[in-house]
Order: sequence, then structure tokens, then C-alpha cells
Amino acid sequence: MIAFDQDDPTIYNPTKRYSPRLIHLQSIMTSQVSVNSSTTFPSAYYDPKGGTVINANFDSGNILVESVDSDCVTLRLRSEPFTEGTDKRCHSQWFYFRSSQIKGRSITYRIVNAGQASYPAGFKNYRTCASYDGEHWYRVHDTTYDDAKGILLWNHCSAEDTVWFAYFPPFTYERHQQLIAKAAMSELCSLRVLGLTLDHRPIDYLKVGRGKLNLWVNARVHPGESMAEWFMEGLIHALLDEANEASRSLLCEATIHMVPNMNPDGTVRGHLRTNASGANLNREWCSTGDYSAPSLQRSPEVYYVLNEVKKIGCDAYVDVHGDEEIEANFFADCAGCPNWSPRLKSLFDEFSDAYCQASEDFQRGKGYGSDEPGQANLAIGADQITNRFNCLAVTLEMPFKDATFNNPEPERQWTPERSKALGAKLIHAFLKVLPSLKQPAQQRM
Ligand code: ZN
Repeated sequence: MIAFDQDDPTIYNPTKRYSPRLIHLQSIMTSQVSVNSSTTFPSAYYDPKGGTVINANFDSGNILVESVDSDCVTLRLRSEPFTEGTDKRCHSQWFYFRSSQIKGRSITYRIVNAGQASYPAGFKNYRTCASYDGEHWYRVHDTTYDDAKGILLWNHCSAEDTVWFAYFPPFTYERHQQLIAKAAMSELCSLRVLGLTLDHRPIDYLKVGRGKLNLWVNARVHPGESMAEWFMEGLIHALLDEANEASRSLLCEATIHMVPNMNPDGTVRGHLRTNASGANLNREWCSTGDYSAPSLQRSPEVYYVLNEVKKIGCDAYVDVHGDEEIEANFFADCAGCPNWSPRLKSLFDEFSDAYCQASEDFQRGKGYGSDEPGQANLAIGADQITNRFNCLAVTLEMPFKDATFNNPEPERQWTPERSKALGAKLIHAFLKVLPSLKQPAQQRM
């Protein structure tokens, strides 16, 4: 352990308990501190003597530093704000940070509160993601999860001075802005801002095509599920590709409405599951029990988007997510909805089979299973849309680990590239169900 200057608030000594004033200064210098544990840890660590430097103070960053030795870095996941009413807990799981001044050194990184994360079982058989340039990511195969102690750890010998580690390759807010800018420059696409988030960020909505059917694809209500926006990038690029015949055919019949990032505040803040107020935006689509939703005070993202869906209408809806535990791509159905019918079941089956044909990464053998009849939670996006519009609506889940069920790739596992390819293939699945979606409304029951 290296000794530190106690009077310099930018330098953190984990063996000391600091005065409130010093913690305040540190929180200014490092911008994030843990507020949910009795001990406070910073999100940056700097060694003036040239040792390891850890930092998570950037777009989508999340980590707290407990201690740094020459060959071992001890870390903690930073918790999200308490989720009132629904989840009644502080979520955590997402991490993203950089480690510097480490070239040629073997270091063990330990996340010692991984066992208290939202889905600790998701760390079993998990491999940490790493990158030297922020563009190309690979898996650290020497990753293990100590179930008994709740510690996630990996050993890494760095080929460069700096390496970034993340739960999954991040799709940062900066990249989101680039995606939106590029899409809006296409003559095929229009951009509108539906409203502002609690941190005053725009809720970006893209519209492509002029066909009669209204197909919605929204992503990333859970911001740590970054594969969901990689998926959207693949889908948007394919829709705007003038040489893509499937896209051209789809857009003759349908208009595609998309909110590629439903939770920009959570994205920037490095959250797994909630927005700036701690709301789980996939439990905010109607009032239930002891809380009212969606509301401008707590969940403006859902408030504005649901209003827009009500104005435009909806013939099919895909809500794009990632699942921490299940190693497969799959749809969750809405069989627990009060209006679930043979027609909706048939549409779900047709859509699922079409996606299986379109992509070898998609499958139907592994998933959540169905709710019992009438037991759906209508505060969940896809269930609310199914019930309100009597239409096909699914939750699409992608893995954080590998898609082992039918198409394992042990070396690279699930990646941004595979997410993007799956996004592009959604167009083919939509095309297959268009004739069924075109049935007149009176035949829909
Ligand atoms: Zn999710």
C-alpha cells in the first residue's frame, strides 16, 4: 500500500476515515461517492508516485475504489438511488472504469460487493469485458465469481498503459448523440424530442417510413443493458440503408417509430436499472397499488413516450432489453394480459418463428416462461401496450454472457456486433408477420 498526503483531498487513502469536510471535497473532486453504505469510497484513485490510477468519472462510468496495491485493486459497485414503490431497493450491477499506468503488469481486480448486486447469479460463468481503445472489446477469460464471498474477480496483464473494463461494451450517451445525428441526416428519417428527462436531457424519437402500420421499437429503459442500444444502431443503419431490400419492402407497408434510448440519465450516471430518481422505467407504465405512474416527477421518459404511442397508435411493439442470467436471445410474451387471445398467441408464435428463421442467434427454447392468465403486471411496458392496443407486443432479451443455447461463441461471447446484426434481422421478422398485422381491427379479438 502506498502512503498518501492526508491534506490533499484528491488523493484517497482507504485506510483512513475522513472528516465530512474532506469527504465533501473528495466528492467534488471525484463527483461520485457511495451514499448507501456506512463507509464512503471515491470513484477515482490517483497515485502521485506513478502507480495504478483508477477512474470512473466519465459518461456511463461506475466504480468505487476501496484500495489499490501494486498487484491488486479492490473495488465496489456504486449503488443507484433507492427505487420507491416498486423494487424497494438500491440497484447495482453495471460497472465501467479505466485503469492506467499498468503496462506489462499483472493485476487482480476484485469487486467485493458483487454479491449484493441486483442479479449476483448473473456473475456466474460471466467474463469481464475489456478494451484498450474503447472501440474493440474482448472478454477477460480469467474471470471468476466467488459465490460464497460474493466477490467478482479477474486477473489481467495489460499490453497497454490504459485499459477500460465494463460489464458489457458501453453504448455511451456520446455515442447515442452520434447515432441520433447520423439518423437525422438521412432523408428517410425524422427526429423529434418528445420531452425532457429529470436531468433535462432530450428524449429522442426517430420515425422512418410512411406505411400504414405503426411498428414501435423502444430500447434501454434499463440503461445498463447497453446491448439494447447496440441492437438499435444495427436496426437503424439497416432501415436507412437504401440498398437494403428488406427495409425498402417493410417501409412501403409500415412506419417504424423508435426511441433508441429510453433512459439517457441512467446511461450517463452509469446505472443498471433506474433513471435519475431511482425509478425502474419498466414498472412505470400504469399506476399500481401504492404509487402512481407514469409521472413527470418520477418517470417523464415513460410519460412522454406512452403519450406519443397513444397519439400515433400501435400495431406491433418491441421493447429491447438484456438479461443478466440467461445465456440466450428470446422474447418474453404477454400471456398474462387480460386480453390475451388465440390471435395474440398466434401472432407471437409467428413473429418468434420468423425471427428464428432470420437469425441463428435467436431461439425459443430458453426464456422466462409465461405468466399465468390474468397475472400480468400492466406497469411493464410490453404488457401495458398489449392490453391497451390489443396488438403484438414483446420484450426482447439479449445476454450479457454468451448465446450458448443454440449458437455459442465461447471466445468473444455476446458482443456489440452480434447485437447490431440481431437488430438488423428484426426487419425480416417484421416482414413475415405483416400480412397478419394488416388484419382489420374488428377481426382482432
Ligand atoms: Zn431490462
